[in-house]
Amino acid sequence: MRTGIVNDPIFLKHDQPGHPENSNRLVSVIKGLEENKVLQKVKQLESRVAETNEIVICHTHEYVQYVKEFSEKGGGYLDPDTYSNKYSFTAATTAVGSSIDLTKAVIKGELKNGFALLRPPGHHAISTKSMGFCLFGNIAIAAKVAIAETGISKVAIVDFDVHHGNGTQALVGDDPNILFISSHQYPFYPGTGSIHEIGQGEAEGTIINIPLQQGVGDEGFKTIYENLIIPSLRRFKPDLILVSAGYDAHWDDPLANLSLSLKGFDWISRKLISAADEICSGKIVFFLEGGYNLEVLSYGVANTIRGLLGIGFFEDPIGMSNRPETDVNRVIEGLIKIHNL
Ligand SMILES: [Zn+2]
Repeated sequence: MRTGIVNDPIFLKHDQPGHPENSNRLVSVIKGLEENKVLQKVKQLESRVAETNEIVICHTHEYVQYVKEFSEKGGGYLDPDTYSNKYSFTAATTAVGSSIDLTKAVIKGELKNGFALLRPPGHHAISTKSMGFCLFGNIAIAAKVAIAETGISKVAIVDFDVHHGNGTQALVGDDPNILFISSHQYPFYPGTGSIHEIGQGEAEGTIINIPLQQGVGDEGFKTIYENLIIPSLRRFKPDLILVSAGYDAHWDDPLANLSLSLKGFDWISRKLISAADEICSGKIVFFLEGGYNLEVLSYGVANTIRGLLGIGFFEDPIGMSNRPETDVNRVIEGLIKIHNL
């Protein structure tokens, strides 16, 4: 069985030169995969546009129609951070449709695991609004469609993008069958993600927010994964793990201030892949979110895909931050108490 990817030329047409979330991000990812000879080892799935009835599992009909019409008229800014152009609706719906298919192929055992190399990203979009460069909640939609259509009962979403996955939280926060775990710089954009946001009603406890001060790096993340994230996954016992993979928690990212290295990202990816092996027969799919240093993004994704392929080797030509790391013990103690871990 092979590792699958999603990629489509339409993802490059959603573009605004000079904006941090521009098409060069994906161009550098694909170029890196070609140069490293990783691309030839994976299976690229045929991509497709999502049906409206798939998107409305998370978004309102009105919002979907609004984005469609806005984009068809030539686009512009949907909100102060999020641009669109005449290709954006097709790009965003192709991201949704193709990542649903990749997720289903992994669930059915047609693929071992996968990485959806998509744009625009999705973890900030909420049911009625775009936010933070995101049009539709790719990963939340894939999780909900997976449960509705494939017969699996529980999905865990782990989000290691440096920004809080507020959109994913809003879209799955009342669903007891979806565990959402986000580690993020805090306080920071978009402002949400405190330890006290834990999900509502029947879903109370299925949102785990891990807010981090500036400067948390490889050692802090190891402690967090070993003491919080992996034990939470073991307790929840999902049938599938989805990962919001943003590479903007790197120390040299232009938009944020956490201190991970490429080595740290590689460790996190492999930890999640081995957790999936242990808990859910290896069923794991990564979804591309942020990451605005093109070199970091390119090496980071290549290393993660090597992990998915079972190749032990990784590359980190950029090295470590020279700042001392911020301690994470207080947030860990708080979360162990709140979530009875
Ligand atoms: Zn981000």
